[in-house]
This record gives sequence, C-alpha cells and structure tokens, in this order.
Amino acid sequence: MPDKIPCSAIVFDFDGTLADSMPFLESIGVEMMMKYIGISEEEATSRYRSTTGLPYEQQVKMSFPDDSRNQAAIEEFEHLKIERIFEQELFPDSVATVERVRTKGIDVFVSSSTFQPTIEEYFRRRGILHLFKAILGYRPGFEKGADHFNHIHKTYDIPYDKIVFVGDSLKDFERSRGFCRFIAVSRMFKARDFRRLGHKGPVVRHLSEVTSYVSTV
Ligand SMILES: [Mg+2]
Repeated sequence: MPDKIPCSAIVFDFDGTLADSMPFLESIGVEMMMKYIGISEEEATSRYRSTTGLPYEQQVKMSFPDDSRNQAAIEEFEHLKIERIFEQELFPDSVATVERVRTKGIDVFVSSSTFQPTIEEYFRRRGILHLFKAILGYRPGFEKGADHFNHIHKTYDIPYDKIVFVGDSLKDFERSRGFCRFIAVSRMFKARDFRRLGHKGPVVRHLSEVTSYVSTV
C-alpha cells in the first residue's frame, strides 16, 4: 500500500474530475474559438487544452490578448454551457468516492472554475448537495487555487498541509503548488504530463482510488 496522506479536507475539482463534462466543454470551447477568432480546429484544440482548468474567460483572454472578439466568444460559451451542463453525467464512482471520504471523517469540498450556483444546482438536481461542506466556484477575484485554498484554510480552520486537492488538469496541479498536496486524475492528461511539471504525488485513473491514498489526521 502507498503511504497515506493524512488530511482533514479533500477538495475535488468539478469538470473532468467529479463530472464527465470535459468532452462537452472542450467541444463548445473549441467551437467558439473557431467561430469568433477564426482559427483552425487544430489550433483551437491546442489553445483550449493548454489552458484547460481555468475559467473559459481566462482561457480565451490568455490565448488572444486584447482581441475585441473575445467577449462574444465568452458570452456564447457560457450560454451554451448553462443550456447543457446539467445533462453531463457524474463519473460512475464519484458519489461512492465522496461518501467513502466522508465516512473516514474527512470533509469534502469542491473547487472549480465553473460558477458556484451552477455547480450547486447540478448537485441539487441529483440530491447530493448535502455531501459537500462547501462548493467554491469561480467569480472574478475568487478563483480555484490560492483564493479557494485560503478560504478553506481560514473559514474552516484547516491547516494547508491537511488539505488534499484532486484535479484532472495540469493547471490544477500548478495552482495547488505551495498550498496543499495534490492527487492527479489521469484522463485528459497522462501521468507523464503531471510528472514533467514536477508532480511527485499520486496519479490515479479512477476517482475511487483516491481513498487508498488518504487517511484521517
Ligand atoms: Mg477539471
């Protein structure tokens, strides 16, 4: 068995980690870049993937700084997203994993680049909102990463070294650096992609494996 990480809180990313929403989000994200910026599907896919994990607003602005067409792309993306995000399924082991973590006495949080009310509504419709201590979503000035980890630390009095973040994107790992431990979920990215960035901790293929890497403090 691997060495277990003692923790009081596990923070799950939402899109691509708990919810199988990345194929949908990537398809509309790429489509909007092609439609409004006029780039090829190949280039749009590459731009999307290299910035995935960030709010779409930032993905577009980082890819095309100061482009006046960005706002229209962002607005239509958010419109298309809210129309169909609730149809996107959770991964088959998401609920069981969250329940097992709670059984260990570890609090469960969500930290996401999706807006907080959207995620709350998503879980409410599935009757599982009560499983989470708090849902932290994106708003300008309050992002996945430093803002969310600082909030969990201060509001719930949890030491940074007792927080584990579980995410599927390279940006998730980068944003956990200097704050908390990280468990990578290998779906969009391979283990070697996370290793290349310096991630030395666990890489799992299925969310259910997370419980074998953590223990109660
Ligand atoms: Mg994600």
